[in-house]
Amino acid sequence: MKNHKGIQLELNFNGVEGNRFKEHLDNGNFTVLIEMHSPPGNTKMADAYELGAEMEYTVCARTKVFSALAFTDRWSYQDAMDNIEYASTICQQERDRHVLFLSGRMSRPEKMLDAAGHAKNEGFRNVIPVSGRCRKEDTLRSMNSGKIFFTESVLALRSLKDNFGDFLHLGTVVNPYQYTVCSSMAQTCKFMKKVSAGASFAISNYGWDLKKLQEMRCSLFRRGLTMPLLGGFMMLTPDYAEEICAGKVPGVRLSPDLQVMLRREAMHSTAQFEAAQLRRLQIHAAGAKFLGCSGLVLSHVEKPAQAEILLRRIEEALEEFSSFQEYLEAYNEYYGRLNMAPYPYQFYAFEDLLKKVYTAELPEIANVEFPEESIWAKVRTGLLERLCANAHTLPSTERGLTKKFLASCRSCPSCRLPLTAFVCPERCPRKMANGPCGSVQVDGSCIHTEKECIFAEQIRYAASKNDFACLEEIIAPQVGQD
Ligand code: SF4
Repeated sequence: MKNHKGIQLELNFNGVEGNRFKEHLDNGNFTVLIEMHSPPGNTKMADAYELGAEMEYTVCARTKVFSALAFTDRWSYQDAMDNIEYASTICQQERDRHVLFLSGRMSRPEKMLDAAGHAKNEGFRNVIPVSGRCRKEDTLRSMNSGKIFFTESVLALRSLKDNFGDFLHLGTVVNPYQYTVCSSMAQTCKFMKKVSAGASFAISNYGWDLKKLQEMRCSLFRRGLTMPLLGGFMMLTPDYAEEICAGKVPGVRLSPDLQVMLRREAMHSTAQFEAAQLRRLQIHAAGAKFLGCSGLVLSHVEKPAQAEILLRRIEEALEEFSSFQEYLEAYNEYYGRLNMAPYPYQFYAFEDLLKKVYTAELPEIANVEFPEESIWAKVRTGLLERLCANAHTLPSTERGLTKKFLASCRSCPSCRLPLTAFVCPERCPRKMANGPCGSVQVDGSCIHTEKECIFAEQIRYAASKNDFACLEEIIAPQVGQD
């Protein structure tokens, strides 16, 4: 196959087998992905090629650490170029080493299937369907009216697995950086659904708290899962660090202690700030490797020269420490007594994280105290259990008034209450039915409503029954999307 520049492409039509990215993960090779955002949609193909080809060449040229590109989907610009087009334009060969994100924002399931088919035909093999990020224009009103909609990642994963499971190696995104018991448990439950829907590898949200990466690994291990997990890491500039400190980047958390550290670093010269971030990256990369992660995904890497420096520094970091103990000394020297949790929210599911590497055994599970359900919540769910236990098999108008009064029913065409722990998914602004989106705030509240995320209610309900299986196993459809 020839691309627009007339260069011969080396494509892989062998399905999931013969997939370079997968092979490296399977072989336990530390893997680094550099995120690429598509340029604006009106960019000429030749210019798009110039923009990305050097980055692709630089990244693929590294030999010590397997590195590749991760093409994000339409979030930097409203009219950004289609990321499959962009990736196809700049990747001349070995497309099976790269990863493509497919966003569910404003994409119905059939459109996501088309996009996955397109990616497959272009020779890409590694795909991560995501629900998609909100943009500034995604107001509560536009979401409630259905003008802005999202196809949930769990459902997209299942449909891609059903249709392209023989060809595509599917991954997912998880945000382990949750610090309340309910938001943390809700993320884990959703993650388990994604695994059963077809995810074979995972990428974490951006974060700096290595204890949370280890917590995630231990949660997987506890469930007998050894799937590869890559940690998301963001290269900060002083301005972007300030934006995160100000809470302007949904889903990305900096503890107050880390904010103080970053602000102190920003008072020095740009070169000194960069040097501090490079050392932070090295500490993170080596830590992630010791803790059993399969690699890192780096965002905010602007130029090929920067990518080359970062990859070189990661290579050095992976060789720097001969033991975890030696690494810990360097970690403690670098971070001192810094608390990486955003106090007062500091839930961790295990004790003694980041004290040793757990391989054959697990750390002790933390003593978890779930917030009690209110008396009204108990009465409400008790009545719903009794009166609406089969609501998903009946016409949705059945017991309409009861559901309206007890579950704020919005008269969906088909009822899902018994599948969603009797919490109506239509109360979620993004209409998520299978677990929280990535923008739950640090205190567990919804960024759009400022009220508690609806999935915290599900966790309290499951905790009251001491039965989380329903939240980990039952996949509920989105109304009108299944
Ligand atoms: S209710 Fe929860 S899942 Fe829904 S938009 Fe808000 S934070 Fe996201």
